[in-house]
Amino acid sequence: MQAYCREHHIELRENEPMSGRTTFKIGGPADWFALPDTEEKLIGLLGFARSRGVRTAVVGRGSNLLAPDAGFRGLVVSTARLDGCRTCGESGLEAGGGMALSQLASRAAALGLAGLEFAQGIPGSVGGAVAMNAGAYDGEMSFAVQSSRVLTPQGGVCVLTLPEHRFGYRTSRVKETPGMIVLSTVLSLKPGKREEIEAKMADFAARRRDKQPLQYPSAGSAYKRPQGYFAGQLIEQCGLKGFQIGGARVSDKHAGFIVNAGGATAGDVLRLMEHIEKTVFERTGVRLEREICVLD
Ligand SMILES: Cc1cc2nc3c(=O)[nH]c(=O)nc-3n(C[C@H](O)[C@H](O)[C@H](O)COP(=O)(O)OP(=O)(O)OC[C@H]3O[C@@H](n4cnc5c(N)ncnc54)[C@H](O)[C@@H]3O)c2cc1C
Repeated sequence: MQAYCREHHIELRENEPMSGRTTFKIGGPADWFALPDTEEKLIGLLGFARSRGVRTAVVGRGSNLLAPDAGFRGLVVSTARLDGCRTCGESGLEAGGGMALSQLASRAAALGLAGLEFAQGIPGSVGGAVAMNAGAYDGEMSFAVQSSRVLTPQGGVCVLTLPEHRFGYRTSRVKETPGMIVLSTVLSLKPGKREEIEAKMADFAARRRDKQPLQYPSAGSAYKRPQGYFAGQLIEQCGLKGFQIGGARVSDKHAGFIVNAGGATAGDVLRLMEHIEKTVFERTGVRLEREICVLD
């Protein structure tokens, strides 16, 4: 791995703590952690690793991810340096899969392009947001995506049109297809007034500060919204607000968030989630579905 990365000028780290690569600040070391800065390098490295039988995983900004305490045996590839962005026609933007979504939203606003206001404050990458169909405040990626260039599990590159993404609530074909990686995405936006777009984004940012425990490390909402309910409300109704196992706590501010209150392990988070799910099911009959992904 070292020789390949040296030859191809790819930054490679050994025994990289995943706690430094996730917004939860949890996780043991990955055997190898690579930061390719071009699509070609990413594709070449993954092909090389797979040909040697090395396990691989891809991460964006690690904002929806729980990394195990034991870390990851194999190669974790970060898309963070695939962060280019260019305008595309009258009102489109093409962004690299690793570009920070918030940064893309700000870029769109500065260009007077509406449609990504909801993305302000979502701390993920464009590729991670496409995979998760990230959304907030009545917006979601599926409303803005036109197409994505993806690496297929077989190692080829193809373009997915909007319907081919098969977007669903916090899911997509990319998420459901192990080994499919978003290299770049074209977003179709609408011309708007910069001040209005920025005012909307400022409003969303204020609502987040007001409602979410942003001062603690977390991975955002732990659960998807069950039909007809809000996960946070159900958890609160069950008396679990502030409930803590080890360093993992149900946020006192928003019960839909699990926060790392200090020194939490992945084991703490998983035990807490099991307790929440069991309690909510026993008391309300609703089965909570996890939104947080586990690096495995
Ligand atoms: C404070 C906070 C607030 C949040 N608010 C919201 C919100 O309002 N709405 C919302 O939807 N989410 C929210 N999230 C969750 C998270 O930011 C989103 O799910 C985001 O889209 C994840 O992107 P990421 O790059 O961090 O993905 P990661 O956490 O790095 O990865 C998540 C999954 O996506 C896969 N993945 C990542 N990049 C790619 C790629 N290029 N191609 C294919 N698969 C990829 C990974 O393999 C993994 O399975 C929040 C999180 C935090 C911490």
